[in-house]
Amino acid sequence: MVRHEKPEVPLIELREIRKTYSRDGGPATEVLRGVSMSIHQGEFVAIVGASGSGKSTLMNLLGLLDRPTSGSFLFSGEDTRNLDADQMAYLRRDVFGFVFQNYHLIATESALENVQVPATYTGIPSSERKSKAIALLTKLGLGDRLDHLPRQLSGGQQQRVSIARALINGGKVILADEPTGALDSTSGEEVMALLQELCELGHTIVLITHDREIAARANRIIEVKDGQILSDVSAPHAERKCLPRLAGELHESSGSRNARRGAFANAAEALRAAWRVLYLNRFRTALTLLGIIMGVGSVIVMLAISLGAREKIMAQMGSMGATIMYVYHGIPPEGGPIGKITLEDIDEISKLPQVSRVMPGLGEPALVRYGNNHLRSYVQGTNELLPSIHHWSLEKGRYFTGTENAQLAPVAVIGVKIAQHFFPEGENPIGKILVLDQAPFEVIGVLSEKGASSGESDEDARLFVPIRSAQTRLWPLMREPEYIIVEAADSSQVKLAEHKIDQILFSRHGRRDYSISNAAAKLETEKETRDTMMAMLALTAAISLLVGGIGVMNVMLMSVNERTREIGIRLATGARRSDIRWQFLIETLLVSSLGGCMGIAIGLGSGWALDAYGIDILFSIRSILLALACAIVTGLMFGFMPARKASRLDPVAALNGE
Ligand code: ADP
Ligand code: MG
Repeated sequence: MVRHEKPEVPLIELREIRKTYSRDGGPATEVLRGVSMSIHQGEFVAIVGASGSGKSTLMNLLGLLDRPTSGSFLFSGEDTRNLDADQMAYLRRDVFGFVFQNYHLIATESALENVQVPATYTGIPSSERKSKAIALLTKLGLGDRLDHLPRQLSGGQQQRVSIARALINGGKVILADEPTGALDSTSGEEVMALLQELCELGHTIVLITHDREIAARANRIIEVKDGQILSDVSAPHAERKCLPRLAGELHESSGSRNARRGAFANAAEALRAAWRVLYLNRFRTALTLLGIIMGVGSVIVMLAISLGAREKIMAQMGSMGATIMYVYHGIPPEGGPIGKITLEDIDEISKLPQVSRVMPGLGEPALVRYGNNHLRSYVQGTNELLPSIHHWSLEKGRYFTGTENAQLAPVAVIGVKIAQHFFPEGENPIGKILVLDQAPFEVIGVLSEKGASSGESDEDARLFVPIRSAQTRLWPLMREPEYIIVEAADSSQVKLAEHKIDQILFSRHGRRDYSISNAAAKLETEKETRDTMMAMLALTAAISLLVGGIGVMNVMLMSVNERTREIGIRLATGARRSDIRWQFLIETLLVSSLGGCMGIAIGLGSGWALDAYGIDILFSIRSILLALACAIVTGLMFGFMPARKASRLDPVAALNGE
């Protein structure tokens, strides 16, 4: 980018520079009308002229903040028209150092942080950056003002901070636009002395002023009037302070060596700055976040409900199936003795064409003994259909048959825990006799392990015997089953079957001393309410995220507007456009992930509240991450536009706060 130069090549050479401003529609004003000059390394040049003569315009061109309308600007012999935006940013960052009349410090950042701004774009480690800034500020007499904000400093102090900022990346060419313009004479004198000292150290100084006395401190005075050079006089005491090494150094630190690293080091810095801004505007930020918070919260609750519901349906469907109905005996609503479901009822129900199988059930705890060992466990009388209706296989032996039930056979099939209790050391339970209360039963099978099922008592610790055997041998007083399980021929018949069973039982009993429930129908109505709730939540989530996103965009646009000057300062001190874009994107990301985290907290909270109300809730890491992703994607989508707007600001206009 920058060629090796011959010693006689000036550092800065302007040829016939013209700059025309055209207001929309209005007449074009030519502010610079053919300016040609060259400045060599180590010179201390003052450009002097009345207000409005085009000095600042010239300065912005010299500092590559703006481009001329015509004419050429050679830097170290290289035509700056050939430089791309990043190369210009590099020169502003690593070669030039700006000092402005009104200091242009970032108001929310401390002196120390302001000085470091240009260095954050070079990719040097933050510790090195910081110690460099401290050293510079200390040298400029501000060692005890490091943490002061600009408004806590006097004008002279602020200008010294801005000089330190101009020097942090080397500042080989200091461009000072009316640096003393806002200062009292003492502070002005200090600043001038400082510039002189820098000149002696080898920095090239271009000083702009309307004050001839101040201009007289320079080694060379260029006078401009109405955009043209009137005179160009080297003071008698002038002596070139050229540093032959300068060109070499330019090459050494040039290029994109630091550019990539810069992008990463910059992210941490941008995050810190973003946090500062958010914190300063925390009320506004919080309001903006409401949308995101509600959106993410709804997403969380929605996913938790849908997962919870699915889990529950799986559990119930898994153990029962969709074709199963339960008929329980009970007390009718109008009162009276408990109802009885008789064997004749069961016969009638079995005859229904919609019904494929019927299984009666009757159960009581009993004392089970084997040798000296005994255990109280639940004994259940059923028929031969249990393994198929419950989808329950056997681990050992066999299940009892219909014939055995009809013949009141004293046989038992035991749960795996009963087997472990009575036959712990691999003893084969098959063929052993267990005594239930007083009656001996022969073990003919061991059921496979079922595991904890939906909140029921442990089904693995039960014994199953033929219901007829139980009715005669165990509980002669309990002649009727407590419930029956009816399996419909197929799931579409469930409703009709339920209706028919009700007809049969009501006509036989004359009252509703029974209840019929059906897993599928119950789940169906539950599912409907849940679906409505889910649809509402999904709508809430979508609307909230949309509103949240718009809020984020709004607050970011406001932020860009409020910080136009800051953006100008950052661009002038060497930020690439991508740095600015990232700064605002990172800020957006921080806002939206903050909102996302708060939304997650609220979502979890309301989830638990719903859980307490008996709604099935299941949180999963995946759904939480999904909700967070929703927030971040929303933020990015809506934050992109403001970030792009910020990065496209014109540096000069931005600096002047337009
Ligand atoms: P100086 O710094 O010498 O006081 P400037 O370079 O700031 O002068 O301005 C020179 C002239 O250019 C002024 O007449 C000013 O109105 C005009 N000017 C400066 N910037 C703009 C702009 N962005 N658009 C239109 N005119 C401008
Ligand atoms: Mg000016």
